[in-house]
Amino acid sequence: MNVLPTAHLRDLASSVGFDLVGFARAEPIPPDFLMEWVAAGYAADMDWMGERAAERLDVSLLLPGAKTVISFANNYWRDDAETVDSPIARYARGRDYHSTLRDRMKAFRKALNVMYPGLGSYGGVDSGPLMEKVWAARAGLGYVGKNGCFITEPYGSWVLLATLVVDAEVDDYGNGPAADRCGACRRCLMSCPTGALVGNGRVDARACLSYQTIENREQQVPEAFRFKFDNLIFGCDICQQVCPLNRRPVFAEHPRFAPRAVAELGVRELAGLTVEQYEHLIPGTALARARYDGLRRNAVYALGVAKQADAKSLLEKLCGDSSELVRTAAQWALLQLDP
Ligand code: SF4
Ligand code: SF4
Repeated sequence: MNVLPTAHLRDLASSVGFDLVGFARAEPIPPDFLMEWVAAGYAADMDWMGERAAERLDVSLLLPGAKTVISFANNYWRDDAETVDSPIARYARGRDYHSTLRDRMKAFRKALNVMYPGLGSYGGVDSGPLMEKVWAARAGLGYVGKNGCFITEPYGSWVLLATLVVDAEVDDYGNGPAADRCGACRRCLMSCPTGALVGNGRVDARACLSYQTIENREQQVPEAFRFKFDNLIFGCDICQQVCPLNRRPVFAEHPRFAPRAVAELGVRELAGLTVEQYEHLIPGTALARARYDGLRRNAVYALGVAKQADAKSLLEKLCGDSSELVRTAAQWALLQLDP
């Protein structure tokens, strides 16, 4: 296979809609960080993080003959007035980013296949055994901050990543990882409401509200964390909001990042969501991962934390909900209104 010209790949990445692209040699990743993180229990019950570790650490097990990892990023930050108080993390307010980035990756691969027939590739968008932040750093797109987020120079950490492994070399691998710009700052560590940031960019998922609101969707959240569901029901942006490197966000113009109607709802409306409303509003968004009952459970906690007296009748009604998850959450929230 020929050596691929990065100037052309950069043009192609831009033409399919990616904001940033970079290239790294497909060399194995030292196992320490991943294995120590999993061994410490920081992955909570996300067993898949420890599974397929060999492939995560060596992309040639995913694509024999892998030579290059191409890393892409898209800025997603928006500040639409109608969603400014949304209790949903910014990345999840619009169309599911997986489909947006996958479509872009698909278009990129299609063009690659036409120009370089026989080129082998393996891609992923926040799925599959690819360590996207490691590759994005190696490709020079930025670095992993103390908040565990991937931070770029032009867009801060308001970016989503996609990764493509190919079995050809490129003509320019750039200058390697970008410099760490956190310096002595500790704002994110000081601001995390649950102490989930445990140093060196590691996040203890068990304590992180992103994990608790999204992945821990089938049982009650430990009570100490429920009290932190303060206008926050899907994901958490706190450690990004406080970051000084996010002070100059760039508005993501593309309509695929525009918020959907669900992002205009408040906590009370989300707690009272009917099945019909859920079916109308949620499919096609990242919120679907929390599922109907998980989303309502989170919103019910948030009502309790807010001590909204006028939510009492809704909470009383939810105490008779068909979902045990929601019923128990509603009983807890009522106690917060009326201890
Ligand atoms: Fe803490 Fe929220 Fe950041 Fe998780 S997402 S580490 S809970 S501030
Ligand atoms: Fe780094 Fe400070 Fe941003 Fe945390 S808040 S990621 S320490 S710059």
